[in-house]
Amino acid sequence: MKNHINWNFDNTYSRLPNTFKEDIKPTPVHDPELVVLNEELAKELNLDFSKVDKKKLAEIFSGNTLPENTNTIAQAYAGHQFGHFTMLGDGRAVLLGEHLVNKNSRFDIQFKGSGRTSFSRGGDGRAALGPMLREYIISEAIHSLNIQTTRSLAVVKTGEKVVRENLLQGAILTRVASSHIRVGTFQYIAGKQNIEELKILVNYTIERHFPEITSSQNKALDLLNLVLQNQCELIVDWMRVGFIHGVMNTDNMTISGETIDYGPCAFMDHYDPKTVFSSIDKFGRYSYSNQPPIAKWNLARFAECLIPIIDTNEDKAINIATEIIDNFQEIYENKWLNMMRDKLGLFGEEKNDKNLIKSLMDWMSNNKADYTNTFCYLMGVAIDDKIYEDVSFKKWVNEWKVRSRLNNSNNEKQLQLMRKVNPNVIPRNHKVEEALSAAENNNFGVMNKLLSVLKNPYDTKDISEYQSPAPLTNEKYKTFCGT
Ligand code: AMP
Ligand code: MG
Repeated sequence: MKNHINWNFDNTYSRLPNTFKEDIKPTPVHDPELVVLNEELAKELNLDFSKVDKKKLAEIFSGNTLPENTNTIAQAYAGHQFGHFTMLGDGRAVLLGEHLVNKNSRFDIQFKGSGRTSFSRGGDGRAALGPMLREYIISEAIHSLNIQTTRSLAVVKTGEKVVRENLLQGAILTRVASSHIRVGTFQYIAGKQNIEELKILVNYTIERHFPEITSSQNKALDLLNLVLQNQCELIVDWMRVGFIHGVMNTDNMTISGETIDYGPCAFMDHYDPKTVFSSIDKFGRYSYSNQPPIAKWNLARFAECLIPIIDTNEDKAINIATEIIDNFQEIYENKWLNMMRDKLGLFGEEKNDKNLIKSLMDWMSNNKADYTNTFCYLMGVAIDDKIYEDVSFKKWVNEWKVRSRLNNSNNEKQLQLMRKVNPNVIPRNHKVEEALSAAENNNFGVMNKLLSVLKNPYDTKDISEYQSPAPLTNEKYKTFCGT
C-alpha cells in the first residue's frame, strides 16, 4: 500500500527471541466500517489520513490491509488475575509494530479485537463495539485529565457479530502505547527460568523507557525503583480524579507507567472509598481505596521476577528488593498528600494538613457527597446541591479558609492551583452509557459531543449537563469486563 499516510514502522519487539511472541496476522473481517478516528492523535503521531477515503480507512483500521513494514505479532505475557497466576498473552490483540514519530519517540500500534492467536485459550479473539468505544472514550478522557495512558486512534465495526450473552456488533480498537511491556511480561519470561532472556527483557525495557540507567551499576534495581516511582504517580493521579481501574491484574500494569486495559473501569461519583463497579470484583480487591496497596502487591510480583539479576546471592537480592518495595507506602503517601494539598489549593506543608484532608473525606463519605463536585464547589463553581449547606461542611470550610491564608497564598494563586488538578467534568457513568447505547444504534452524535466536552476537563464553560451525578435509582452502577 502506498505510504502517503506517513507510517514509519520499526519493529524491535518482533526481533526479540521467539519466547516473547508469536508471529501472526490479524484475521481479516467481513465488512469493516470506520466509526471514529482520532484526528488529533493522528496529528501528534505525524500521520495524515486526510487523503484516505472512509472505505480505505476501514480496511486499514480493521487490519484487512496492513501498512508497509509492519511485522505483526501477538505478545506473550503472564499475569496474576485476582491473585491467581496464569499464562496469558495477546489472545485478541495483534501488535503491528512500533511507529516512529522521530528518533526518540516510538509508539506501539496495536489492534484489539483482531482475531484468535495461540494465546486465545477458549476465546474468540474478538471484541464488541460497546467495550471498544468505552476504552476509546475513557482512555482519551484520562489523557485529557493529564494522566499517563495508552491512547485510542480509531474504532471500526467489523460487520461481524460476536457471541457474548447476546449477539453483539464486533469491533476493533487501534491502541497506541509507549509500549505494551507489562509486569506480566516479566512474569512470563521469568517463569521460563532462562536468565539470558530475562536479561534481554531488562535491557530492552531500559533502552526503551529508561535510557538514563543504561550504564548503571545495578540496572535491575534502578529499574525497580523507577517503575515504583511511576506507578506511585499514576495511582495518585487516579485517586485525584476518582478513577477506579477495576481490574488491576499484573498483566494490566505497564512498566511505562501508563494506564492500560480499560475494561470495567469507571469514575466514582459520590465519595466512598470502598467503591467497586466491576461485576466480577466480588470482594472489592480492586476498590478505589485498595488501588495503592494492590499497586504495591503488583510491584512486589515485578520485584520477584528481577531477583536473579539483582544479585547472584538470592537472600541478598530478596533483602534489597524487599527494602525497595517497603518504601512504597512512604513514597505514595507523600505524593498523595501533596496531591490533596493541590486539590485544596494549599501551599507549603502544615502539621495539621492530613487531619484537615481526612475530615473532608469523612464528611464526603458520611454525606455521600459527589467527589468531583465537592472540589468544584470549593473552587466557586455553581453546583446545584443543597448538601453544601450542611453545618458541619460549613465549619470545615472555615477551617480550610484559615489554613488557606498561610504560606504566601492569595485567592487567585489558590484558585489557579486548584484549577489545574480538579476537573469540572469527568466521564460520568450515565453519560458514557448514554453515548454507548446511541452508538449501538448507529447514532454517534452523543458520543462525539461527550468526547469534545471531555477534551477540556479543566475548563469552566457551560457543561452543567455533564456535571450532575446520575439520578438516584435503587440500582447500583455495574461494569463488565466486555470480553
Ligand atoms: P483482559 O481481561 O482484557 O485484560 O484480558 C485478559 C486475557 O484474556 C488476555 O490474555 C486477553 O488477550 C484474553 N482475552 C480477553 N478476551 C478475549 C477473547 N475474546 N478472545 C481471546 N482472548 C481474550
Ligand atoms: Mg489485559
